Amino acid sequence: MKCFNHTEREAVATCQKCGKGLCRECAEKHTPCLCDTCAAQIQQDRRQQDQSKEERRKQKYKEALVDTRSEFIKTVIGGIFVGILLVWFMKSEYPDLTAAMCAYYFFIGICVPFGWKILTYLQSFFPLSIFGTFWFWIIYGVIKLGLSMFIGIPAFIYQLVKTILTQRKINRLG
Ligand SMILES: [Zn+2]
Ligand SMILES: [Zn+2]
Repeated sequence: MKCFNHTEREAVATCQKCGKGLCRECAEKHTPCLCDTCAAQIQQDRRQQDQSKEERRKQKYKEALVDTRSEFIKTVIGGIFVGILLVWFMKSEYPDLTAAMCAYYFFIGICVPFGWKILTYLQSFFPLSIFGTFWFWIIYGVIKLGLSMFIGIPAFIYQLVKTILTQRKINRLG
């Protein structure tokens, strides 16, 4: 067999992929032993693989960002309901409640689910389920709700800032 590139030379090796004959000079060009065409092909395949891997990684990252955003939106929607309920309750207790106070309670209401979430997260570190009685959970729920109103405000602000930054990252990714 002759070298594929140099027809005057005797082949000393063959391309590992396509089996073309290669002379000593051609055989030493690529490691493992490949002809130019196959070496270029393999390199291109590898580059494409790297590219699609990078794209998949980007896609996953973006999905995670979108998840963070939709989680925030869901929590705000929940908060709006709590806010309406809270304003309605306060208004029925104190009929001469000012508009500013209504707005304040509405804001507190929006924050409540954010505080509630943090408390639920903290709660997972304590084996509370051993207190399995009905009244424990009722009292616990009321305390948790009260605490949520306080913790909720910084939690809401923190999540709001985080979501704005997330949105900017999403925009940058395009
Ligand atoms: Zn080849
Ligand atoms: Zn050759």
